[in-house]
Amino acid sequence: MTGFIFNEKPIEIVEGDGTTLVDDSGTEYLDFGASYACVPLGHGHEAVQSATRDQLERLTYVQGSYPNPVRTDLYEKLAAVAPADLEYTWPCNSGTEANEAALKFARSATDGTKFVSTMKAFHGRTFGSLSMTWKSKYKKHYEPLLDDVEFVPYDDEEALEEAVDEDTAGVIMEPIQGEGGINPASTSYLETAREVTEDNGAALIFDEVQTGLGRTGTLWACEQAGVTPDMMTTAKGLANGLPIGATLCKEWIAEDHGNHASTFSGGPVISAAANATVDTIVDEDLPGHAAEMGDLLQTRLEEEIGDDVREIRGKGLMVGVEVGRGATRALKELALNHQVLALPSGRTVVRMLPPLTITESEVETVVNALSETL
Ligand SMILES: *Cc1c(COP(=O)(O)O)cnc(C)c1O
Repeated sequence: MTGFIFNEKPIEIVEGDGTTLVDDSGTEYLDFGASYACVPLGHGHEAVQSATRDQLERLTYVQGSYPNPVRTDLYEKLAAVAPADLEYTWPCNSGTEANEAALKFARSATDGTKFVSTMKAFHGRTFGSLSMTWKSKYKKHYEPLLDDVEFVPYDDEEALEEAVDEDTAGVIMEPIQGEGGINPASTSYLETAREVTEDNGAALIFDEVQTGLGRTGTLWACEQAGVTPDMMTTAKGLANGLPIGATLCKEWIAEDHGNHASTFSGGPVISAAANATVDTIVDEDLPGHAAEMGDLLQTRLEEEIGDDVREIRGKGLMVGVEVGRGATRALKELALNHQVLALPSGRTVVRMLPPLTITESEVETVVNALSETL
């Protein structure tokens, strides 16, 4: 082995089609993590592939200060499908960059400097976003990070009210924590976050990098609580597997966002892929399908393994099974004995983020595989 210093799994993946991944020996796997939620439409979706190919031939790149119709289309599309008033888009290349931009915009548009984040949060791995991330294993080798950050217990309204004051530039949170174990916030927590930031002139940032694009049964998770943040970040599945991120902002943020840019931000090829992805998700009502399949998945899991595990939780097709210490072993067995690829969420949770297109029989396959594994 040369060159690659990161952990790799013992399965070499060479092809993908829909919910299936194929390894170098021809074995097929059910991709029940959608490759970290990055392929909401499944692998190799035709509408996305052809939009991307066409744009690659027409114009691969143009510097971002020239208007480009494909990028303009993406701005308009995101504004149209985002919760009301999140009308301004800053496009970038990943989730951490989308959060990084949100943090910079919060500093610029408010009078505050401090940030409030939540325990168990995951917001990315660049210095700013990493400073908002909870787990010390991700941070300890790179400290010092931003020091004006207070972590509060997730879903604890009083702690949040105490932490936010007029020095606060922004409060950042996931509407459902993903990496932290699939922890949904209560509606009243998100409402409190909205009130307390508004009262103190701070920006409320929802990180929907994992929860967004239909995964939780609505296009954005925050819609279910009826709470609109000042900024919302999206990435992962936005271009169905190609690298993209976006920070959606209200006008008061956009007006005073400072000076921020990135060379590849909103490139035409990625924008074309994102346009096709968003169109497909909306036109085929995949959030509705995710809600239905998610209910089925949780109901069937409760029936088959509910008594053997500590908890089954989540929304839509963002589901965690709290299995205790055996999560790593369970994931390995699922992959090697049942050809089902799921994801960890910490050391104790088996996390499922399948493509939004999954069928009832695929749900059943996974329920049976899990029930035999546990
Ligand atoms: C994956 C993730 C990120 C980071 O996205 P990258 O594209 O890996 O930088 C940020 N926030 C949440 C909630 C995520 O799930």
